[in-house]
Amino acid sequence: MSPRVHPGFLYEFILHPAGEILFSKRITELEPSATIALGNLVKKLEREGTKILSFTLGEPDFTTPTHIIEATKAALDKGDTHYTPSEGNMDLRQAVAERVRSRNSLKAQPENVIILPTKLAIYMAVQALVDDGDEVIFPDPGWVSYGPMVQLSGGRPVPVPMVNMDGWKWELSDIEAAITKRTKVLIMNTPSNPTGSIVDRKEQEGLARLARDHDIRIISDEIYENLIYGETHHSIGSLPAAEDRTITVSGFSKSYAMTGWRVGWMIADPDTIKMVNKLQQHTLTCLPGFVQKGALAGLKGGDSSIEEMKREFRARRDMIIPLLNEIDTISCEVPKGAFYAFFRMDNGKSSLENAELLLKHAHVALTPGSAFGKAGEGYLRMSYAASREDLEAGAAAIASHVSSHQ
Ligand code: GLU
Repeated sequence: MSPRVHPGFLYEFILHPAGEILFSKRITELEPSATIALGNLVKKLEREGTKILSFTLGEPDFTTPTHIIEATKAALDKGDTHYTPSEGNMDLRQAVAERVRSRNSLKAQPENVIILPTKLAIYMAVQALVDDGDEVIFPDPGWVSYGPMVQLSGGRPVPVPMVNMDGWKWELSDIEAAITKRTKVLIMNTPSNPTGSIVDRKEQEGLARLARDHDIRIISDEIYENLIYGETHHSIGSLPAAEDRTITVSGFSKSYAMTGWRVGWMIADPDTIKMVNKLQQHTLTCLPGFVQKGALAGLKGGDSSIEEMKREFRARRDMIIPLLNEIDTISCEVPKGAFYAFFRMDNGKSSLENAELLLKHAHVALTPGSAFGKAGEGYLRMSYAASREDLEAGAAAIASHVSSHQ
């Protein structure tokens, strides 16, 4: 894969500079994560004194609920600073199993659960399933790290475009056309980052049939499961056709405003959990015990904080989408879930150029749609997990940039 050529200053943050022979081919060919790299860039610009309205990282602006913080502090005070079992504390695995049984209708017992950061759960699932040259299908536009995780595992990324016709859809016929003898895994994501679209139960039944007929494993990324506005979340792993072959990942980051805690879970059959646990033992070892105690308090503490944050995200969505649609050249569907406005900007420029111009001239940081795949070209992602004031100011700055650069 040769580096794409772009002269702008975002280049070094989003795309990798020319390869160095000092490093492995594997890591040299890997592009940085656009979301994380842009988050770093914004922090750097702010350290240097430039005020940026940042809507790059998908990170709730709320503080973690107090009862979670208190439980963590109490664990630290009690000296919970040692290793835990690599698969996670039994009380937390039990609580996660209970939660996914009741919420997601997954048939989970503690032996079906391993505690780890959600991002690592996806990576380790891919590592555990993929041999050199195996193909992994995932949505385009889709989260920036699916492709790189497949590359790192020696697999071949197969992004399958979604189509946008009054909302993004992943067509079964397009997925079927992409399946070959080497297809090993299909990664699905509902609600979707970056589009906010949902894979509903009927669509999941189609995917499950396809996976069964072609003997493909499914990794279901459900990290935004609690952030759905109006519709109900459904987990593909609860379908009889998919239950044996699905690895479900989710966690605390987005639902409980716990991005910095790095805690989540994987649900799978016990053999998969054992394989992933080997990876955990040779890499992370375990998650900190005090973090697991905080997470447990989150699960035991009821859902009022989730509901409150969700109400606020919904209000922000309902405020920002009309503001964006008022701007010339911009069009944006109402996302059904997550907290991203994925909008089209039809001004003849690439999404990277638009992101760069907006950062330079309007001091508004957005993620270019091309970072999420070829089908994301022409779009920009604005995270509305930001304050209403910042969202309003961001929309105004974009509008004024657009009108002065026609
Ligand atoms: N998933 C979030 C995002 O897309 C956080 C950053 C990341 O892990 O990519 O912005």
